Amino acid sequence: NADIAMYRAKNKGKDNYQFYASEMNVHTVEKLAFEARLRKALERREFVVYYQPKVSVATGKIVGAEALVRWNHPDRGILFPNDFIGLAEEAGLISRLGMLVLDIACKDILSFRQVDAGFGRVAINLSASQFNEYQLLDEVRGVTEFWRVPSNALEFEITESMVMHNRDQAIVLMDAFKKEGFSLSIDDFGTGYSSLAYLKRFPVDSVKVDRSFIKDIPEDPNDTAIAHTIVAMAHTLGLKVIAEGVDSATQLQTLQNFDCDEYQGYFFSKAIPARDFLALLQQQVLN
Ligand code: C2E
Ligand code: MG
Ligand code: MG
Ligand code: MG
Repeated sequence: NADIAMYRAKNKGKDNYQFYASEMNVHTVEKLAFEARLRKALERREFVVYYQPKVSVATGKIVGAEALVRWNHPDRGILFPNDFIGLAEEAGLISRLGMLVLDIACKDILSFRQVDAGFGRVAINLSASQFNEYQLLDEVRGVTEFWRVPSNALEFEITESMVMHNRDQAIVLMDAFKKEGFSLSIDDFGTGYSSLAYLKRFPVDSVKVDRSFIKDIPEDPNDTAIAHTIVAMAHTLGLKVIAEGVDSATQLQTLQNFDCDEYQGYFFSKAIPARDFLALLQQQVLN
């Protein structure tokens, strides 16, 4: 795992980076090897998609899911996005990876909808470099049309920094996605530029309150106030609010008091393989 450990260390901070800067050649060689391995993994389709349920705060029912990529490495087992997304971005491979994730998700959505006709949307995470590519929407359409997945079965998660970087261009692309029938949400809300004034201008359907604000509610009065304010403000703008990283009953109770719409988190379920998610849906339909 040397190459992965090295890559992780580099991304941890300046000090680690300086440490590796003195061993730049070693680092570069390892990085290139890892990049080549990643390329091969894409060709071999070694990636799988896990699903984390999105649950209604009011009813406790699964209303959708977030698609989270995993690398099923033949020697190392399941690898998490933090170990390879950054490098995929640097290596210019994130678009291909993103389309592979969309392809797998579309196939899975068909079975989710077969089991639960009322099943909502699957949310796909987009990286900044994908969002800057003019052909993104055409590629997305190509995949959804291939699988005959209607656009109301999909949602795309983007971050504040992605749209703040080039606001006017981002709004044009967001409008195009919306016109096509896809939903949009702002991921990790509160960690970026957080300009509420701009949020009003973005044609998005929902915001996902970042896990860092949920972690310590209701004990931390500041986080509690922030979470409450985000929910109220988003509702004023007509947006749905989803809380990330809910891992306790008291957190959920607090969010219920705030009138938060949906939540995700270990309290209900972590991200699980498609067949396990399907079993959860099946159970829910039978109850
Ligand atoms: P994210 O979109 O903010 O996803 C939420 C992350 O928090 C996931 O980690 C999820 O497993 C984790 N999580 C959910 N509930 C809890 C909880 O209660 N407690 C804790 N401690 N963690 C929780 P994961 O799957 O490792 O994904 C990390 C990030 O990788 C994602 O953050 C997303 O930015 C990125 N990512 C994942 N899949 C894709 C993809 O297909 N494409 C792109 N571009 N990025 C992806
Ligand atoms: Mg996300
Ligand atoms: Mg998130
Ligand atoms: Mg997050």
